[in-house]
Amino acid sequence: MTFAQFCHRISAPLLIATSCLATTAYADFPDKAITLVVPFSAGGPTDKIARDIAESMRKTLKQTVVVDNTVGAGGTIGTARVARATPDGYTLLVHHTGLSTAGLLYKNLGYKPDDLEFLGLINEAPSTLIAKPNLPAKDFAEFRKYVAENKDMNMANAGVGSASHLCSLMLQDALKTQMTFVPYKGTAPAMTDLMGGQVDVMCEQATNATPQIEAKKVKVYGITSLKRATAPALAQIPTLNESGLKGFNFSVWHGLYAPKGTPPEVLSKLNTALRNALKDPELVKRQEALGIAVIVDGRQTPQEHKKFFNAEVARWSKVFSEAGIQPE
Ligand code: ASP
Repeated sequence: MTFAQFCHRISAPLLIATSCLATTAYADFPDKAITLVVPFSAGGPTDKIARDIAESMRKTLKQTVVVDNTVGAGGTIGTARVARATPDGYTLLVHHTGLSTAGLLYKNLGYKPDDLEFLGLINEAPSTLIAKPNLPAKDFAEFRKYVAENKDMNMANAGVGSASHLCSLMLQDALKTQMTFVPYKGTAPAMTDLMGGQVDVMCEQATNATPQIEAKKVKVYGITSLKRATAPALAQIPTLNESGLKGFNFSVWHGLYAPKGTPPEVLSKLNTALRNALKDPELVKRQEALGIAVIVDGRQTPQEHKKFFNAEVARWSKVFSEAGIQPE
């Protein structure tokens, strides 16, 4: 008999329910599989991170964590699904920087960030500027010149508000150029087209780009984050900042969320599972090999995660208003 079943037995006839029920309503959480919604395609960086974190969280939760890709509209469809889900801890979301900008890019989102409980930040990933293997430019200086001379270039992204889209907006602004944006449901299918030469350029997180750069299946023109990436495969690649785009800084963070109203006891168990995962040596090793830093500071907590998120919304609104970007 579980503790919850025991309490149910004694509390009903004796009517001493209050404290027992309060303690036990979630004592067995989780007693079934948890669904972790990824708002982008399978095989892309958000998906890889979600599967990685799910594998480690399972060790604490002792339950299966099933990843479900609910894709489209730059991650907003999957997010809306979680925002509207029953707040019982069995439907969670992994999302990235785009959660802080969606409200600035979409007129009708279908949810507000306040419809979500913040569970903790997972990691920060450097991003890369990559191109199809046969793009003639050899380095970033040549790329810059090539873009200025070729007005018909196209750039893949994972939809309005995705990380790749944000990075593309920043790049266009910095290069004072316009490329045709080609939206996909995630950067996994976009990467296939980039490797095949159907699209020209893309910004992509190290999570997904590192193996393709190593295998020379794509060209790389720089790291978009301010600091160089630490993964051995990326350490020699200069940043765009070093290559002349002074101050260019785009990297991607990921966080874990639940629907608003999820009971505090459940949130606390989920946060413990997340924090345990972030110190799981196997997870840290897997992430580091891709040049990704797992969060080791206070942003692992819901309070600091929310504070960081609000600062990100403020930062991006400034970037967008300076670049004249309006919601669609
Ligand atoms: N990397 C994608 C983005 O640009 C999302 C994904 O497919 O994971 O937002």
